[in-house]
Amino acid sequence: MPTAFTTATPLTDDELRAAPVSWPVPARLRRGLKLDGAKAVQGAESLGLETVGDLLEHLPRDRREARTVAELLTGETATVVVEVKQITARAVRRRGMRPLVEATVADASGSLRVTFFNQPWLVGRYPAGTRLMLHGKADGRGRFTVQGHAQTDQRPGGAGAGGGEPSVAHYPATEGLSSTQILALVHQHASSFDDVIDPLPVAIRRRERLADRSGALRAAHFPLEPGDEQEGRRRLAFDELLLAQLALQQRRRHRRIASSAPVLDQGAEFTSRWLRTVLPFSLTGDQVAALAAIDRDLACDQPMQRLLMGEVGSGKTVVALYAMLRAVEHDLQAALMAPTETLAEQHFATIQNLLGAEPVRAGLLTGSTPARRRADLLAKLASGELSMIVGTHALIEEAVEFNRLAVAVVDEQHRFGVSQRAALDRKGRGEESPHVLHMTATPIPRTLALSRHGDLDHTTLRELPSGRQPIATHLCSSEAERERAYARIRDELTRGRQAFVVCPLVEESETLQARAAVAEFERLRTGPFKEHRLVLMHGQMRPAEKQGAMAAFASGAAQVLVATTVIEVGIDVPNATVMLVEDADRYGISQLHQLRGRIGRGRHASLCLLFGRKDAVRLQALERESDGFALAEIDLQLRGQGELAGTRQSGEALFRFAEFPRDDELIERAHRYSREVIDSDPELKRPEHALLAEALAMLYGDEARAPIRA
Ligand code: ADP
Ligand code: MG
Repeated sequence: MPTAFTTATPLTDDELRAAPVSWPVPARLRRGLKLDGAKAVQGAESLGLETVGDLLEHLPRDRREARTVAELLTGETATVVVEVKQITARAVRRRGMRPLVEATVADASGSLRVTFFNQPWLVGRYPAGTRLMLHGKADGRGRFTVQGHAQTDQRPGGAGAGGGEPSVAHYPATEGLSSTQILALVHQHASSFDDVIDPLPVAIRRRERLADRSGALRAAHFPLEPGDEQEGRRRLAFDELLLAQLALQQRRRHRRIASSAPVLDQGAEFTSRWLRTVLPFSLTGDQVAALAAIDRDLACDQPMQRLLMGEVGSGKTVVALYAMLRAVEHDLQAALMAPTETLAEQHFATIQNLLGAEPVRAGLLTGSTPARRRADLLAKLASGELSMIVGTHALIEEAVEFNRLAVAVVDEQHRFGVSQRAALDRKGRGEESPHVLHMTATPIPRTLALSRHGDLDHTTLRELPSGRQPIATHLCSSEAERERAYARIRDELTRGRQAFVVCPLVEESETLQARAAVAEFERLRTGPFKEHRLVLMHGQMRPAEKQGAMAAFASGAAQVLVATTVIEVGIDVPNATVMLVEDADRYGISQLHQLRGRIGRGRHASLCLLFGRKDAVRLQALERESDGFALAEIDLQLRGQGELAGTRQSGEALFRFAEFPRDDELIERAHRYSREVIDSDPELKRPEHALLAEALAMLYGDEARAPIRA
């Protein structure tokens, strides 16, 4: 039963008879836009508007209420919605000039005289009775200089209370092509809405209660009812998210069918003994669930592609090691690749620790492994004598051959490029690929994880290992609070603990930042902490000086480390229990969360003191939340996806219509549905999927078939 736009209301017979019938000709959407003037052409180009189809997908950014004629202020640029009362062309004396078009236009509040230059055809296009949107300047004496004009279906304004003023769509515009010009163009091409075809099968459209694509586009430009616009936009967002998810699911599938992996389904005597007797702790619930998921993956002959997300300290290494030991237990090999030598060394040490006295032959291979040692490692990897290798990019060099690599772990996976991850994949024996566990410590909201890594299976470690001391976070603003903060820090120092002081942020330059840090160091050294041993660290110090400072703090020789945010990375001093951050409201949520992660690493309860405004929402979030994933969600809400840490840097193309967190629910649906589609019709061969397949090919081409996402 046909229903009205995005409703369940059936249409009457009369409405059905009056409904337009259309015969879409999609080719018409690919025709180039015709524009008057070089400036407009340039403007369109910079907005990416080449074809009619591009134009129709160029949606208004927002809508504002139009002015009424009576409200126009002299000299102000504004938009009015009016009706043409009278329009004439008047010849101009001067030779070579085209006739002027003069019109009287009005809304319910008053009338205006307008003149159009050089466009004699407007007399025919805008006969009396035509509704127009005019953008320009009023001169205060009843004349209006038109800068842009477009036909509209909207009722003229000024009708007074109740009716509400007409709204003006604001399009993303540019020099040479104004919002009003774009509106006029859309109007001019309005018949092409009928050329838009719908890639979604009807069944899914109904189930998901979505508008048809053509109607959705039209509604986004020319809403008839309040809310139409949002409904339209949602539909377009769904398409966009669905196509992206389909591309990811196809990639996932192609990777699975194109390669096979060793089946690791034999008894787990060694690993279960290791878990029971060697590990000095029992696993968290999240870790247990992660192991179970990994067991299932490894028992298949298709390579695991799992993303393990968990903050620093959440216990990823144990999970990774378990996966690796499963390979060892099958007499096969495992590798762990980290992005830096330091990380690789740390992992190697941790792994040796966690293995205790278990006889697992493991090695470390990095760029600075001496040649002889390297040759020895390579020989043993090739022969199978070595079961486990930890290293950097050095692991994927051509010369490195494994006897039979079954499990590969990639730490901080986003720091490796496509070709590097692909090279690791090729280290399997013959056509075989290893099972791969990707790890990341950067908490990202689920929606972003789905859009970036929808081709991977996901596991998250949220629960912190027990025995971990919580970090109490407090916001401080007043001088009294500052005094109390210093007193608290002195207490901790007296008890043998250590503290970080993060200096005020100076953004202008590194030099100024360093100078500020030096000043703060002097102030603290001779003031609040004059009884204690302080050390300074900032970005302008030479590497040896920094190392010296670090070593002094790590050994406990220095009690307070006064530093800029250089301490964000790689400092592990479990005895440090306090962190004081100056100017905290100048940092982002994730940066503060990272900073705070430097404390709370030992046996003692920790304290984080953030100096900033009490009403700063971000600081309040940090005060309340200690879970990085929850904070990432809040960050997304507060800042929008474009600003989210990691999004910019990764150069990820943002969606055109979808936006998070507003469309969180849509991406979940798109993800679920894409899996359904690919599971039931992997190559999109069924007739109802033909248009989806075509849309997918247009958008992603062969890229969707590549085994690893760029
Ligand atoms: P990540 O790699 O996620 O940063 P690690 O695996 O290095 O975290 O774990 C951090 C610390 O917590 C290590 O010292 C590890 O031995 C310990 N740990 C891991 N899991 C547990 C657990 N379930 N209970 C207690 N301690 C744990
Ligand atoms: Mg780790």
